[in-house]
Amino acid sequence: MNNRYETLSEASKVAVTRCNEWGFATTDEVYDSKSLIDIAAIHDEETYMDEDSFYLVSQEGAIGFSEDGETIDWLFIPLNSTEDLSPTLKIKATPNFCWKCGKAVTPGARFCGACGEKIC
Ligand SMILES: [Zn+2]
Repeated sequence: MNNRYETLSEASKVAVTRCNEWGFATTDEVYDSKSLIDIAAIHDEETYMDEDSFYLVSQEGAIGFSEDGETIDWLFIPLNSTEDLSPTLKIKATPNFCWKCGKAVTPGARFCGACGEKIC
């Protein structure tokens, strides 16, 4: 699971260990390690993060922002990356057993087949 970072600066410091050039998702701008750290510092000063918001860094060094803990906006994407960046956080795997009655449930099922309890 990806670590969560409270500031873009923290995320950037991790990202620069994985990649050295990023494109910004919505413009043609390209950042190197130094300009990424610089823009992150400015961004952090100007941005108020609420409790549910956080940044994350992908395996290859892409930096994403999540406002609600469910969807991810990928902001900085490593150049030439072929990584498949999911727009949503991986939801926890469905438990294999009903938390209420303890019967095994079909993977992916939303309700317990034995007692009908909602699984997730
Ligand atoms: Zn059950």
